Amino acid sequence: MSPSSYLYLLALSAIASCQPATDQNAVNNSVLSFYTDFEAGSLGDVQQLSAHHWQCAVAGETDADHRNRQASWYYFRVEGARDSTLTIDLTDLVGEYNYQPGAHAITAQTRPVISYDNRNWRHLSDQEVSWDEEKVILRLHLKPRKDTFWIAHQPPYTTAQLKQLLAQYQEEPYMKIQSMGESAAGESLVLLTLTNTAIPLEQKKVVWLMARQHAWESTTSWVVEAAIRYLMDTTAGRALLDKIVFQVMPMGDPDGVARGGVRFNTFGHDLNRNWDLVRPAEMPEIQAQKQAMLDWLSQGHPMDLFLTLHNTESADYVQGPDLPAGHKLLAYMTAYTSFEAEGLRPMPETTTMGKPGRMTVNQALWAAQGVPAYLMEMKVERVEKLGANRTVDDWLALGAGLVQALAAAVE
Ligand SMILES: [Zn+2]
Repeated sequence: MSPSSYLYLLALSAIASCQPATDQNAVNNSVLSFYTDFEAGSLGDVQQLSAHHWQCAVAGETDADHRNRQASWYYFRVEGARDSTLTIDLTDLVGEYNYQPGAHAITAQTRPVISYDNRNWRHLSDQEVSWDEEKVILRLHLKPRKDTFWIAHQPPYTTAQLKQLLAQYQEEPYMKIQSMGESAAGESLVLLTLTNTAIPLEQKKVVWLMARQHAWESTTSWVVEAAIRYLMDTTAGRALLDKIVFQVMPMGDPDGVARGGVRFNTFGHDLNRNWDLVRPAEMPEIQAQKQAMLDWLSQGHPMDLFLTLHNTESADYVQGPDLPAGHKLLAYMTAYTSFEAEGLRPMPETTTMGKPGRMTVNQALWAAQGVPAYLMEMKVERVEKLGANRTVDDWLALGAGLVQALAAAVE
């Protein structure tokens, strides 16, 4: 269905669902248009409840077995809104996590972001949202100052943004851009090598960094962008490239990001589970990442630290083996950045819940290769150290700090 016919149906359903109104003009004048016709756009059914009150379901996503529904991504544009007072209810939030029903990632503490140019985002204030615990609805109270605005769960970061970033470093000798393979939809899976190649590898430490195994976790990409910029564009960052090789896998699920997915690849598989399985046809992304790392190790190169970046709603934490590298990473992050975690979280040794297909990348690398492999969760909700939700600038600062933390961890 074309975006325009989809929009037409939306408008029809909105008009059809209008409650009887005493002031018909008010209804006619308040028909908004909702669009998701751009990269990473996502929204479920839209209904108009009254003149200025709209119900927007969050689309959510289930896995290949129709389990583990997660509804933590929405990103849409609204047109026709200027000078009106709007109520938008975000509904259909409940799903399940690790096969436990009832979970919902969007909570009373979640603050969507709004933009008038699809570039600059601010969080809605406490006064602009309310939470219905019984119905599990996040209600937005908006007075848009322009006709068109965008709403998202957190500041988006698309595959197009990554391509624009990498284009700036195409001719750069300190960065090699390779393809590890292709995603299910045929998108190139990028592997970046950042180092000073004039200095032999044997004299350097090696850090592997991964992001976007889960499509919705957009702010981890802002962190990666800042890490790359710090290494390439600052004197201190360049100096680190004399001593460290950074192997960066910035976009684990480009297909999911492009279609506005949540946490499953094109075939419905969680790319940060399943590391104990070998199913290259259904999970080419895992296959490509695994092969790139095994090739590296089989060439006799070290992997002094591995880190995969994730977002979660309510906590910053680092999970992984009880080794000095993990403790140093955490200590630096908590001392010098907005990261607020209380100590290294232990990692189950093997698959979780005794089921095959539940092993995470850091579990697998530690269990099978003995690599000091960690997972870092970075929270979407309010950060006490900042007294606010992290803005894009805060995520960028976290990325620059992360580079220094990784360097400190492998020193
Ligand atoms: Zn994740």
